[in-house]
Formats: sequence, C-alpha cells, structure tokens
Amino acid sequence: MPEQKESILLIEDEPQMRRLLRVVLQGHGYRMLEAETGEEGLTQAALRNPELVLLDLGLPDMDGIEVARRLRQWSDVPVIVISARGQETDKIKALDEGADDYLIKPFGAGELLARIRVAMRHSATRKSGRKEPVFLSDGLKIDFVKRQVFLNDKEIHLTPIEYKLLSLLAGNAGMVLTHGQILKEVWGPNFVRQTQYLRVYMTQLRHKIEADPARPRFLINEPGVGYRFKACIEKPGDGEDLGGSRES
Ligand code: CA
Repeated sequence: MPEQKESILLIEDEPQMRRLLRVVLQGHGYRMLEAETGEEGLTQAALRNPELVLLDLGLPDMDGIEVARRLRQWSDVPVIVISARGQETDKIKALDEGADDYLIKPFGAGELLARIRVAMRHSATRKSGRKEPVFLSDGLKIDFVKRQVFLNDKEIHLTPIEYKLLSLLAGNAGMVLTHGQILKEVWGPNFVRQTQYLRVYMTQLRHKIEADPARPRFLINEPGVGYRFKACIEKPGDGEDLGGSRES
C-alpha cells in the first residue's frame, strides 16, 4: 500500500465514474470520501474537511456550479470540476464561481493526478500565506521581490502591465484563469469585458518570453475560457482514459 495522502471528496452521481476514480485515486494513496448529490457533498465537505473536491456538474438535486458557489461562501478547499459538458460558458461559470480547474470527461488518469497535485500545491501556498520569492520554470525566472524577469539568465524588460500579467499567471502556474479573472486582477474590476486588451498584451508578452510565440511553451491559451501558465514539472503518467460516459 502506498503511503496515505490527503483526502479527496468526490461529488458524482454516476456509480461507474465513482468506482473508476476511487480505484485510481486510492491506488495513488489518496483517501476517498464520496457523495452522490450536491447536498450530501456540501454536508460531507463541512463535516469531513477534505483537502480537495472533485465536482461533477450534472448532479440529481442541483447544478454543480451551485455547489461550487455555496462551498466558496465558507471554504477555500480547491475544487476541480469534472464534467462531460465541454461548453465554454460552463467552464467560465464554474471557474468564476470559485472552481480552481476544469476537466472534460473523458480524461486521462495522468492528467487528473497532475491537476490534483497542482491544485493542492497551490492551496498549500495560499494557506501558508507565503509566496516563493523566486519562480523558476524551464529557463524562465521571475524574481517577485526585485520584480525582474530573466530568460536563460538574460534579463527581459517588461512593461508594468506585462509584468503583472506574467506574475499573476506564473503565481497560479498549472491553473486556468478566466479572461474575466485576469482582467479584474491586472486592469481592475471595470475592465472584465475588455478581452482585446488581454489579447494584445498576451501577444506582446509571448514575443518577449516565448522562443516561438505562435507555439507557446509557457502561456497556454484555453480557447474561449482564458489562459494557463504551463507547469513544467509534471510528467505524463498513467495513460488510461477515465469517465468515458456521455452523461453529464
Ligand atoms: Ca452526473
């Protein structure tokens, strides 16, 4: 038996999906808590205090987005939405209601495990309130104290907006941020609809830090949803596909 890791609360009404995820996650040492409905999920979250929540959107008693919204009123447990619904509006809604990430069924076990590690690491940093003073990834270095950025030891000069944008995305490495979330953080709450600003600055930033701006290594587009700074530490593992069901 692998060493016991943190507990994960799975809120999912479909028995096969629960069984699949239970096998994979227990196999990787996580303790599993399970709920079949949104209400039961919220109760379990309150009573058992899981380290992470995996949340299906199509639940029998309420929409998963509603579960995320209610959970966020009192908890900052990381939430990863797992859903057969691939629509951009659903992804944006879930992320704006406080979900940390989003996986579309079917997804690979390796991808799920990587996203879980990212979300847990991020939550640990958030809890400790201590940000790493220096961010390193694949030749890119951001010194948050001196507000300097280096690519392969060469300093890159960024405008204040470019720096804010890059440090926000790198500070949330591995997690998707919606256009609205980024615009609000970098430009302010009155700018959440100005996605063209974001596009312009993202292009500039890519030209400064990407070897091939057309095929970015760091600043990954999540079409129609937002951007993700690609975490470079993860290796693709367990290749099997999970959650092939078309049910949502
Ligand atoms: Ca479902």
